[in-house]
Amino acid sequence: MSQLDDVLAHIDADRPQALERLFALLRMQSISTDPAYAAECEKAADWLVEDLKSLGFEATRRDTPGRPMVVAHSGGEGRHVLFYGHYDVQPVDPLELWTRPPFEPAIEETAHGAVIRARGAADDKGQLMTFLEACRAWKAVTGKLPANVTILFEGEEESGSPSLIPFLEANAEELKAELALVCDTGMLDRNTPAIATRLRGMLGEQITIKAADKDLHSGSFGGPAANPIRILAKILAGLHDDEGRVTLPGFYDDVADLPADIKAQWDALKFDGEAFLGEVGLKVPAGEKGYSALEQIWSRPTLEFNGIIGGYTGEGFKTVLPAQASAKVSMRLVSQQDPVKLRAALRSYVESCLPADVTVEYKPHGGSMATELPTDTPEFTAAQAALTEEWATEAVFSGMGGSIPIVGHFRKILGMNSLMVGFGLDDDQIHSPNEKYELRSFHKGARSWARILDALAKA
Ligand SMILES: [Zn+2]
Repeated sequence: MSQLDDVLAHIDADRPQALERLFALLRMQSISTDPAYAAECEKAADWLVEDLKSLGFEATRRDTPGRPMVVAHSGGEGRHVLFYGHYDVQPVDPLELWTRPPFEPAIEETAHGAVIRARGAADDKGQLMTFLEACRAWKAVTGKLPANVTILFEGEEESGSPSLIPFLEANAEELKAELALVCDTGMLDRNTPAIATRLRGMLGEQITIKAADKDLHSGSFGGPAANPIRILAKILAGLHDDEGRVTLPGFYDDVADLPADIKAQWDALKFDGEAFLGEVGLKVPAGEKGYSALEQIWSRPTLEFNGIIGGYTGEGFKTVLPAQASAKVSMRLVSQQDPVKLRAALRSYVESCLPADVTVEYKPHGGSMATELPTDTPEFTAAQAALTEEWATEAVFSGMGGSIPIVGHFRKILGMNSLMVGFGLDDDQIHSPNEKYELRSFHKGARSWARILDALAKA
């Protein structure tokens, strides 16, 4: 038996105790957004500090203007990694939709097997405990960890992380490591483990087209007076072609093609775009021609209209020519697309479309670049192999249509990449009533981290 086999056997044997520990953490009502639960958040932070100390970590609770952070160091040899998770949870309302009290965790049998039912079971207490259980097993079997581990647990992730950036900046030296391990994502499906490596960036812009200095009667002024809705509609309609491509000049300049090996991996997933759309009452994938639905979400940029406002929108009819009309436009960005450059491109396109007597005003919203993590490093390759081994299914380098801000902060402030591995499933109902984490996710998650730590040590 190898050392790793002994560690995995220890995790198997220790299952009941591991579950008890997770349940203790789940009983704490650490809702970060509601000040009424501040003491519960502190209790959860203190509990984690004690648990980390019992694993031999030098662990401290760090108070912030909001909820406390937990920082811990194992010291020791090997690769230096920073593990991140969050102990705070979302509010539980509407409470009447829960089948059991959200802070009284229990195992429930379902069609897919046993699940842990409680607020935070998946997001993120169950996930962060998978890592601590892996550390516990390594420590129990070998007396040390296969890596030099620093831990950062946040208590404000579900309420916008107001203290995070100042905390990272003030403690950069202490928190810097070679690689961050982030456990707040999911599996591709119940058998396919995933390392999330691509997150899209975002930018928003509200565009307001203004013409006359007041609303006008369409009988008196219709014809000679410019109509902002008509002008806005033409501007928006001019932003895509019939193939679903964005026509804004320069939009695709900094978009890299998907590497052939990643594309082959994604194609092999046989992702069913029609079934995916079927869940929301649609059938035929729209969007950019020549790209699968999965490629569109994970690797292609978009320009979308999220809202449009103008004229009379109440019951009945009012024959008004409005003084102004607005649209909320957003882009999801990939590769090296630059939000500053694209905002300027959008504005100059809009201005090139304006007829005489018409002006435009803008209200910017957000602006962040995409994150694409390298997949060809020894660390990523080692982690992929470890996950593949545990789940007996090839681990996929996946994308995410949305974003995980912490990954950008780690890169910008601490200068390190993040290995995003998690064991959640799409139907875990995080943020909703009846959140669950599969018992299998919890158990195999711990085994996965034990293997990843071993693989990182050898990579
Ligand atoms: Zn989370």
